Amino acid sequence: QVPTLDNSRMPIVPTRHRSPTQPANFTRLQLIDDEQQFSGKLSSYMKTKWSLADAGFDYNVVAVFGSQSTGKSTLLNRLFGTRFDVMDESQRQQTTRGIWADRGIDGMKVLIMDVEGTDGRERGENQDFERKSALFSLAISEVLIVNMWEHTVGLYNGANMGLLKTVMEVNLQLFGSNRESKTLLYFVIRDHVSHTPLDNLAATLKQDLDRIWSSLSKPDNLSDARLSDYFDLKFTSLPHKVLQPENFEKQALELRNQFTHRSSKGYVFRPSYKRNVPADGFPHYAEAVWEKVVSNKDLDLPTQQELLAQYRCDEIAATALVPFRECIDKVRPRVQEGEIVKDLGSLVQTERTRALAAFDEQAARYHKDVYAKKRSSFVQVLDGELHSLFLNQVKNASSQAATTFANDCQKLLEEAVDDYIFSDIVGEVRKRVTKWFGAAIDSLTFKDAAWTFNSEIKQLESQLNATTAKLRSAEMERALEQIRRSTRDHLSDVIADKLNNPNDGDMWAGVMQGFEKSTNKAEAMMEHRMESTGIGRTEHQQRAQLMRKLHKGLWEDMINSLREEVADQMVLLKLRNILEDKFRYDENGLPRVWKPSDDIDSQFAAARGVAQALLPKYSRIDASSLLTSTLKGWDSGQFFPAGFDIDRTLTLISPARQRELSKRFGREADALYLEAKRAMVSTQNH
Ligand code: GDP
Ligand code: MG
Repeated sequence: QVPTLDNSRMPIVPTRHRSPTQPANFTRLQLIDDEQQFSGKLSSYMKTKWSLADAGFDYNVVAVFGSQSTGKSTLLNRLFGTRFDVMDESQRQQTTRGIWADRGIDGMKVLIMDVEGTDGRERGENQDFERKSALFSLAISEVLIVNMWEHTVGLYNGANMGLLKTVMEVNLQLFGSNRESKTLLYFVIRDHVSHTPLDNLAATLKQDLDRIWSSLSKPDNLSDARLSDYFDLKFTSLPHKVLQPENFEKQALELRNQFTHRSSKGYVFRPSYKRNVPADGFPHYAEAVWEKVVSNKDLDLPTQQELLAQYRCDEIAATALVPFRECIDKVRPRVQEGEIVKDLGSLVQTERTRALAAFDEQAARYHKDVYAKKRSSFVQVLDGELHSLFLNQVKNASSQAATTFANDCQKLLEEAVDDYIFSDIVGEVRKRVTKWFGAAIDSLTFKDAAWTFNSEIKQLESQLNATTAKLRSAEMERALEQIRRSTRDHLSDVIADKLNNPNDGDMWAGVMQGFEKSTNKAEAMMEHRMESTGIGRTEHQQRAQLMRKLHKGLWEDMINSLREEVADQMVLLKLRNILEDKFRYDENGLPRVWKPSDDIDSQFAAARGVAQALLPKYSRIDASSLLTSTLKGWDSGQFFPAGFDIDRTLTLISPARQRELSKRFGREADALYLEAKRAMVSTQNH
């Protein structure tokens, strides 16, 4: 293992109050100080100390980027003959923060910026100054030397790539629309001691850069900007300064040539890197850039720590999610198959608590805001999975509740004995089912859960309402049936009696009176049943509808009874009975004994006339007496359901059948007449 001078773990002795005075022959300037103030002396340094003020466009700007103590100042001093502070190994002192500027020696028209500062990443401070100085360097320099240890190549944090990302992002926002000049990012890999060829190291860095570039959030108008639109990339490495001092010096010198000799092969300065700023304008330009950098809020956003926190919190969350998912994946199929998994709520809640605890334990150490944000999105992920699982279970419970309700009600209603109250039975079941469902829901809701199942509760309610309505109408159908059955027998007795005695008063008025009476009785029963079925007095429409349906049923029952009474044989029997009554019996109800002197023919004709006259009477119902009845709605046509054509029901025997019956009755009467005649002849003969 080759020792390196990564002294980040060394105790740091701040020397903030060290005086920035310097020996008289030094020409360096603290361009930006500890307090982020831009020096007022740049202009005069340009003129007097550096003699660059009149250089026009004939000067170059180089800056350096890299972690603390990676030998940046050492390198700059080698390349440009400057005398930037190098950390003294014997004292191990941290140098002041700030950006130092100097001019290259030996006539080099190069302005060099050396960035000093504490390493915020290692110190856990925010990287405000690092970001600002890096952004400033990037914005003003033609060549930005990116300095890093070989062993940090490929390490996102170690190589300061995170910072680079932030800086590139903000650079794109602030200066991105200026594509005229590019910057050369010159990666100088220090302490190249491994056998990994430079090309491979370069490839790794290129990959990192591409990754960084594609993950940058770019302004809308620059969404298609490519890395190469803004940057050229160049890579080199240097041997270990302590282990191979000669090689180091040799190669440092070669590198120096790339900055000094226009004719050298790798000469770094190109016209395309040039900012369009003449030397006398440079002080103003640099200050303006610094102002812009300092006033930019975007720089304050993603600090290195935040980036790290985001990355780690995501990782921690992913790990914590694994056992949670396993548990959920185990129960999910059961729930999906419709099972109502007992203890699902507590089971899963335990896992949730465990996952959150696992997350908190590790993630809480990271950047507070990021941690809080990541935690809430982790909770969202957990709860998202929970909720869909719970919802599934709630739906299962809901449909089970609905089924239980329907079945239990039906069963209880079927088993119920006589004077039961529908509303009580159904209400009882509903209470039980709702309570059960409520408990199922309660077990799936907990204190900080972001959901309720109110809409599922409502849904079940309306489903139970629908079922209740269905049960109610079935119940009312049943009631209708029962009421009709109980009135039918009585009414058919009345009908038989009235039709068998057609000449006792007004036959049809008697029938209608019977109808009216049984209707009134049936209505009372219906009222009672509606009451107990929960069809309240306010539900006029439904009540009226049911009543009309009852009326129609009763009416049809009556019609059926009447039709039976006037069926062929029945009506013929009735006519014959009447005929016989009139013909065979006298006014006192005594059987007649015909004597030869009797006018049998006219007697017979009279009796037959009376009987035959009944046929039209039997054929059509005369409901006119109902007009003055107590039946509600009869006169206004509201008695029956709409569309019920009562007139069509009034005809019991069609004219054709009447003629046919009349003929048959005639024949039967003839037979009777002949029989009577024969009986008389036989008495004469004796
Ligand atoms: P800076 O903070 O990046 O400017 O680093 P310095 O230039 O101040 O150097 C920090 C320490 O590393 C000093 O003790 C240097 O002597 C030493 N150093 C400079 N260059 C190298 C190098 O290439 N390799 C090694 N191993 N040490 C170096
Ligand atoms: Mg330094």
